[in-house]
Amino acid sequence: MKLELALQLLRQSGQSLPQGLVEGTPEWMQALVDALCDMSSRDALTGLANRRHFEMTLDSEIDRVARAGEPALVLLLDIDHFKQVNDGYGHAAGDRVLQGVAGVLRECVRPMDTVARIGGEEFAAVLPNCRPAFGQAVAERILKRVANRAIEIAPGQVIRVTVSAGGAYAPQWVRSSTKLWVERADQQLYRAKAEGRNRACLEQPAISVVSPEEKGLLFALSPAPIRHV
Ligand code: GH3
Ligand code: MG
Ligand code: MG
Repeated sequence: MKLELALQLLRQSGQSLPQGLVEGTPEWMQALVDALCDMSSRDALTGLANRRHFEMTLDSEIDRVARAGEPALVLLLDIDHFKQVNDGYGHAAGDRVLQGVAGVLRECVRPMDTVARIGGEEFAAVLPNCRPAFGQAVAERILKRVANRAIEIAPGQVIRVTVSAGGAYAPQWVRSSTKLWVERADQQLYRAKAEGRNRACLEQPAISVVSPEEKGLLFALSPAPIRHV
């Protein structure tokens, strides 16, 4: 039965329902649904938001930026030479590094920000209301803290890793798409890797960075002009 499976999955993920609820009551069902939602939006290894949750967050940010014109930054972060960690110390050590980096990222952001693990050794942060003048400094602070963190991969054995970051702002007053927004950040991440890693490259926010596809979206969503006869 699916209910049994749901409870088993919750137990396995380390979650439990609040004490004192009587099984089968509406309150118990509500708590169960809440716990399942929480579980399905988290990455099991690091406890960060997962890719699904990240994409939902981007969607709602795009709405807000288009409506209110507030700046929002997306940062993509990728661990440098992570394959060497797995090859040199083993996959379990690699997993410890992923958890360690996740912990640093969690510490670095404000409560309103979302940090996610979106792929193997790839992370992302969505920073609503982040003024363009601060973006580079925010990204560099994160990189510095990751590089300085000694991550314990086995009792008494620590290693350090670095990350590269690429960032892009959602175009203000224009309804972009999550795909185009992330693609622009990804181009910057590619640049950070090519320029030597352990660095952050951010796209300069300017109206000229609105791509032709994004302009197309703007016009596609504009209401038809009113004709006066
Ligand atoms: P670069 O600096 O260019 O990013 O190099 P890289 O070695 O980090 O990049 P690459 O994409 O070559 O390697 C990523 C590695 O991440 C390959 C894969 O084995 C490892 N990986 C992906 N997911 C996991 C995971 O969940 N746990 C562990 N331990 N390793 C993982
Ligand atoms: Mg990668
Ligand atoms: Mg990598």
